[in-house]
Amino acid sequence: MPFVDGKTMLNHAFEHGYGVGAFSAHNAETILAVIEAAEEEQAPIMIQVGQKVIQTLGMEPMKMLIDWYGRDARIPICIHLDHSREFSQTLRAVQLGFQSVMFDGSALRFEENTELTQKAAAIAASLNIGSEGEIGKIGGTEDDNTVDEKDAMITTTEEAKAFVEATNVDYLAVSLGTAHGIYKEKPNLRFDRLGDIVKAVQRPVVLHGGSDVPDEQVQRAISLGVAKINVDTELRQAFTRGVQEVFAENENEIVLANSLGRGKSRMKDKVKEKIRVFQSSGKSELLLSSL
Ligand SMILES: [Zn+2]
Repeated sequence: MPFVDGKTMLNHAFEHGYGVGAFSAHNAETILAVIEAAEEEQAPIMIQVGQKVIQTLGMEPMKMLIDWYGRDARIPICIHLDHSREFSQTLRAVQLGFQSVMFDGSALRFEENTELTQKAAAIAASLNIGSEGEIGKIGGTEDDNTVDEKDAMITTTEEAKAFVEATNVDYLAVSLGTAHGIYKEKPNLRFDRLGDIVKAVQRPVVLHGGSDVPDEQVQRAISLGVAKINVDTELRQAFTRGVQEVFAENENEIVLANSLGRGKSRMKDKVKEKIRVFQSSGKSELLLSSL
């Protein structure tokens, strides 16, 4: 079985000093782009199901598609629910057999976020499913939720420690200066704070808004304890440019396999590039042999 729970996968990465790419999928072609790239790189991966695709295709069809394409893969795969803001939706993903879920209560008051995240984490843990929680607000726009980058407060070490102690989430998304979407100016991650937080919580940290963060910053973050890096924007850009190339060559192209196929191919290249930056290339065997 190639499907591995998120806690096992990310703890392995955390202990061995590499990062797992959590790549968002939006349809069959993007699922295949991620799986094929990971197989060629022999890398463990997470495939994220986000709120947009749940609105358009539905959570259950996406889960079934990833199961279908992933079942014969020779690499560990973890299917993750990204940014679930409704508790009932988080539970639905647990029922459907996701290997990892994120209840995102970061827009709620700290106490309310803590209470709901704790419940989600306890239910997930009872079924060996990894859980992610978030404190602080990550800037930019994800799905339909916009956070002003000036308001994107850097998470404090005290907050992170209190949140993890109260919720026991397996991995923690914190705000370190990254943003969702396209950056207006080059991000500068707060490595000092990251180091302090990891020391305080003793578990993997998740980097949201991983697109377009300079490679050396991502690698430094991994060396300090970031084990999951979410990438979506850069993959969608690569896919879209691939589709555009086909129409630039022939504006009357109507064979979808050609346009979508080129998009898939460009996205696959980008996923491979990210996997190498995250140093998870070739880590598949190491993880599988530890199970
Ligand atoms: Zn995010």
